[in-house]
Amino acid sequence: MIKRKLTREVRIGSRTIGGDTPIAVQSMIVEDTSDVKSCVEAIIRLDEAGCEIVRVTTPNLKDAHHLAEIRAALKARGHGQIPLVADIHHNGYKIAREVSRHVDKIRINPGLFVFKRRLPDQEYTEAEIREEREKIHEQMTEVIKACKNNGTAMRIGVNHGSLSERMMFIHGDTPEGMVESALEFIDICESEGFYDIVVSLKASRVPIMLAANRLISERFAERINAYPLHLGVTEAGDGQYARIKSTVGIGTLLAEGIGDTIRVSLAEDPLEEIPVCYDILQALGLRKTKVEFIACPSCGRTKFNLTEVVPKVRAATEHLVGLDIAIMGCIVNGPGEMADADYGYVGKGLGRISIYRGHEEVLKNVPEDDGIAHLIALIKEDGRWEEPP
Ligand code: SF4
Repeated sequence: MIKRKLTREVRIGSRTIGGDTPIAVQSMIVEDTSDVKSCVEAIIRLDEAGCEIVRVTTPNLKDAHHLAEIRAALKARGHGQIPLVADIHHNGYKIAREVSRHVDKIRINPGLFVFKRRLPDQEYTEAEIREEREKIHEQMTEVIKACKNNGTAMRIGVNHGSLSERMMFIHGDTPEGMVESALEFIDICESEGFYDIVVSLKASRVPIMLAANRLISERFAERINAYPLHLGVTEAGDGQYARIKSTVGIGTLLAEGIGDTIRVSLAEDPLEEIPVCYDILQALGLRKTKVEFIACPSCGRTKFNLTEVVPKVRAATEHLVGLDIAIMGCIVNGPGEMADADYGYVGKGLGRISIYRGHEEVLKNVPEDDGIAHLIALIKEDGRWEEPP
């Protein structure tokens, strides 16, 4: 079993993340925020697909007001409970201050709090570093005050690709720079008595994202407060490789107990991100949202056409969320390798199969054509059957 590293619980509207709350699934809509109608439709689609927190871009002050309209329209449509997050661009502290009234969380990027553009090799003096820190503190104090007044949480979202020039000068383009960037903003929040913080350290390269999140998790262990971590591999791309990249990055950290909320960033319709998130969580045993099918890859010993049977068993039973069902090709290794499934469908040869309940072979030599009907009958007998929706 995975032992999660303990973090503070942080409330994001109707949902709490961190602590031992279920790892939350989130995504971001791609519509123009000024197109309120399209944004509302997109958020409803994500809500219905199982997305638990939705982010909306907020590039300017006008869009902060569009968020208020989006929220009101969602409420009118019966989707007022979905937590909304405003993504703030630039060092937009005025936008953050305004939009915090209309959303459950704001996301700021410390890398964008930059006050003086510099030439690539230009050095920072101690005085310049101090001056920039003071300015950040001043602006952040305004944002924190607004968040506190409105009960709005804040994600300090650091991206490897947009570290501030000051951080790059001090730490280089490194995971340490990402962590220090987040800690600097956390320190400001804590100095102002604000703790409703979520942190993300994203990179498009998995090893960097892993290193940064492991490092901040270690640093949290040395501090009084450990904040929930939002995991993601940013700019993962599309298709199979994007899913694998995200799964490796997010899944590796979750397996180490690191992470409280996840987003799989795909260059596709955001709806495509949701099942990948749930599959990662299910594979790690962190959330169970569908039947766990265990099927052997088949081999020369296989006693029936496994690739045909698996989809048939799935079609008949996939609505029974919570069950583990195994489909194994032979009795030589099948029963032993069903990974403690609740039920097993195992090939015996000569057109016969056996049905197992756990490790017990309860129906022997059933004609293969009747196999699924017998499996369903056994699940019914055990009182674990529900009619498909
Ligand atoms: Fe082959 Fe049997 Fe293992 Fe399936 S369970 S891969 S049929 S040995």
